[in-house]
Amino acid sequence: MPSAVHSSNLLSIAILGSGLGGLSAAISLRRAGHRVTLYERYDFGGEVGASLSVASNGSRFLEEWEIDIPSAKPVILKNLIRHDWKTGEVEGTYSLGDYRERFGTDYNNFHRIDLHRHLKEVALSDKGKGQPAVLRTWHKAVGLDAEAGRVTFENGSEATHDVVICADGIRSVMREQLGVTADFVPSTSCCYRCIISADKLRELGLDEFLENNAIEFWGGYGIEKIVMSACSDNNVVSCYCFYPAHKNDVTEDGWNISTTGENLAATFPDLDERMRTLFLNAEDIKMWRLYNHKPYPYWAKGRCALLGDAAHPMMPDQSQGACMAIEDAGAIGIVFSEKYSNFSVEDRLKLYELERRPRATRLQEVSKLARENLSERIGWSSESDRPGKLTIEEVCGYDMHAHVAELVSKFELSSKRT
Ligand SMILES: Cc1cc2nc3c(=O)[nH]c(=O)nc-3n(C[C@H](O)[C@H](O)[C@H](O)COP(=O)(O)OP(=O)(O)OC[C@H]3O[C@@H](n4cnc5c(N)ncnc54)[C@H](O)[C@@H]3O)c2cc1C
Repeated sequence: MPSAVHSSNLLSIAILGSGLGGLSAAISLRRAGHRVTLYERYDFGGEVGASLSVASNGSRFLEEWEIDIPSAKPVILKNLIRHDWKTGEVEGTYSLGDYRERFGTDYNNFHRIDLHRHLKEVALSDKGKGQPAVLRTWHKAVGLDAEAGRVTFENGSEATHDVVICADGIRSVMREQLGVTADFVPSTSCCYRCIISADKLRELGLDEFLENNAIEFWGGYGIEKIVMSACSDNNVVSCYCFYPAHKNDVTEDGWNISTTGENLAATFPDLDERMRTLFLNAEDIKMWRLYNHKPYPYWAKGRCALLGDAAHPMMPDQSQGACMAIEDAGAIGIVFSEKYSNFSVEDRLKLYELERRPRATRLQEVSKLARENLSERIGWSSESDRPGKLTIEEVCGYDMHAHVAELVSKFELSSKRT
């Protein structure tokens, strides 16, 4: 049975978009005692995706929300491995060593679909803290009155809530409704994502890729880079393959643009032969156009705020897109907890933006730097190279609860002054 909620803190909250960000926010907000409704434009029939690594800054919230992490079938990462582009020889290994002791959780590598499915179950479940969220599929949000918290949907319906969280992804329509215009340019890089099953790899004699519990890299100094990792309880291996955009000028946008193994292998003629064999036998291959996005001037307006890719689309090169969405969800759950219920909705959303925007913007910027320079990627980066370089300690050693409390004391002071 759902546990009791504190009526003094009870709000009706809409979340527009049920990706990893929206579902995480639904979990954190139901646990904070609110009535949550998720509105999703589709019914998840076409869910796709490859591996997503969730470092401790994201996994910490999954643990805090009592998510049964093994049910989402992670591979627990132990190493980062660098290979020679042509021969595949191992050039360097960064051992994650005592990661759990240092940062409090494992470094989990999920298949996006496994994590999405599990978060959806948890958000909607009768079990667990708070009331189950309600999911309304085939509700594509098309209009928003930020001051009134009123949303209109393409299907003609309308809903009004105390708070509206816009988690509608990189091409967010709600962002425009809040008056924020996306400012982005196509990157000079594109990316293929492909997956292959463990059985197929064994057939090909490539079982070695199932044994390392690692993220493995080829290249990464310049545009070309391959990033490979196993997920789904080691039953799937996934690769991200970055290449110069001019090689095939993908102009289409989306998560579901298919291509062939022949195209993929032909893009990397001089790569380690084992990887080319993997590409030719890959089971699901998608093309992904990449864009460089500028940070937005604000995230919150009236009763509404942006969350996840809608707030901070970023290059995938720090593997932090999903983690930042989970951190956003962590923050929204904290600012809407009983502890901060003396603040108005508008002030709580301002506090959320204060907490999140600088950190997510930093990750957005350093993800661009890591696009063509592996030594900027956490794990491979070191502060001794250049002061201010992003390190694994800065990302994974972050204490959001303490930071929000610190901001609240400053925020209260400045509120009193104005
Ligand atoms: C299908 C898919 C596959 C992906 N695959 C990968 C991958 O392989 N690797 C990787 O690194 N990242 C992938 N991502 C991105 C990654 O999941 C996100 O970067 C990250 O998790 C942040 O999630 P988000 O919830 O902010 O955005 P998203 O995951 O994009 O979720 C946004 C959600 O909002 C819904 N939506 C959009 N517009 C509306 C609207 N107007 N009204 C209602 N609902 C709306 C979408 O249908 C979607 O469910 C994928 C995203 C999607 C949607």
